[in-house]
Amino acid sequence: MIFSSMFVTHMSGQQMLGQASQSHDTQCITEEQHEFLISEIKIASQALRKQPQNKTTKSIVLFDWPLRAKPSLDFYNYYSTIGYVDHDPAVGSGDFNLFGDTNLDYNCGNNTYDRSNDYNHQGTDIVIWPFPWYLMENDLVEVIAAQAGTIVIKGDGNFDENCGSIPTGSLTSNRIVIEHADNSRSIYLHFKNGSITSKPIGSTVAKGEYLGVVGSSGYSALPHLHFEIIDQNFNVIDPYSGPCNSSNTTSWWANQPAYSQPQINAIITHSSQPVLNECPASTEQLNRTDCYIDGEQLALGIYWRDMVLDMNTSIVVKDPANNTYLTTGHNGIGTYRYYWWGFDLGFLPSGGPYGNWTIEATFNGQLYSHNFHYAASLSTSPCENCTEYITESGNYPITQNVSATINITTDGNIASGLSIDYHAGQSLDLLSGFSVTQGAVFHGYIAPCF
Ligand SMILES: [Zn+2]
Repeated sequence: MIFSSMFVTHMSGQQMLGQASQSHDTQCITEEQHEFLISEIKIASQALRKQPQNKTTKSIVLFDWPLRAKPSLDFYNYYSTIGYVDHDPAVGSGDFNLFGDTNLDYNCGNNTYDRSNDYNHQGTDIVIWPFPWYLMENDLVEVIAAQAGTIVIKGDGNFDENCGSIPTGSLTSNRIVIEHADNSRSIYLHFKNGSITSKPIGSTVAKGEYLGVVGSSGYSALPHLHFEIIDQNFNVIDPYSGPCNSSNTTSWWANQPAYSQPQINAIITHSSQPVLNECPASTEQLNRTDCYIDGEQLALGIYWRDMVLDMNTSIVVKDPANNTYLTTGHNGIGTYRYYWWGFDLGFLPSGGPYGNWTIEATFNGQLYSHNFHYAASLSTSPCENCTEYITESGNYPITQNVSATINITTDGNIASGLSIDYHAGQSLDLLSGFSVTQGAVFHGYIAPCF
């Protein structure tokens, strides 16, 4: 692994290598766009309906969680719910009023927003986390139908890497609306461009069926899902029941999630400083490795959701014999819906012990563990025996992301006649400009490698 310049200085002990602690807004939809959406739904529903519906005898449907991760994503958790429906009808004076005194969520907190032009947030915002752009680019979090129904709206083709766009008059969120058996509708916004199901409008979908990939199209600052429910009369429903929910008394979730869910979403060992929350998507870099060799620094990143001020995480690093190599910890510096902290744990001990090491982190009563491999050299590393991940040969650019050993050539091109084997711990990102010339061969390998 090649260290970035930010990371080559040896630091003794445990130091922060970077941190971000954020609950910034995702943005979503304007009042004008919302009105357009509701009218769009009314027209579409009428067009699909051959005869009047009996709206009085059906009980409400209940909803399941509208996201799932691809099985290949090995994070513990992959999202954080960062914004709820705003039940305070007053709006603040600013263009975007977040967590203010005119905001009131179902639980009487202020995890929501409004806008001075009379828009109170009417959905639930769920950000994918950590590395939201990476997750989006690699299609790792999918939006699924929260309940069975009929597709009444589909909108796709809009730019999907917005990172703080100024709202426009038109609704440019890639979107799906599903009508359910009780004539309620679930609304899903901000899909990745081109990811929406190929099923046409009027098709039925099963509960849990794929709808698309979480993205950042429309009025959006980072990849997230805006999930909204409207009832048969087009009134907004907050699916969460709670003391400050003024729209409905019962929960519309089949299993209502907790208001706050303090958990670790991911423990990642890094080859160099990660780059996260950068936009566009191609700039976000995990720089993940699960394989270190002698002389390399152990760089740990922990990624939480719903961090609470002063809530402690204890961290133990154990060698292959299960002996404690070091202990450290972290106390949350604030209460944040999503949060990360980096730890420089210094150089691994020269001469070993080599083998499989373990990082254990205990947070909010739950133990999370992460393994990495430590070897004397690359030639002795089990990483040599990784499953072959990518083989490229030909005269064309590789359009994925990329880090690290791009310095095998000075210009990112692997010249004819060369055969390059690249071994990465867990992710292999090919930087823009990387290419393999006709006659050259490039092999990339990633974990699981031990
Ligand atoms: Zn929203």
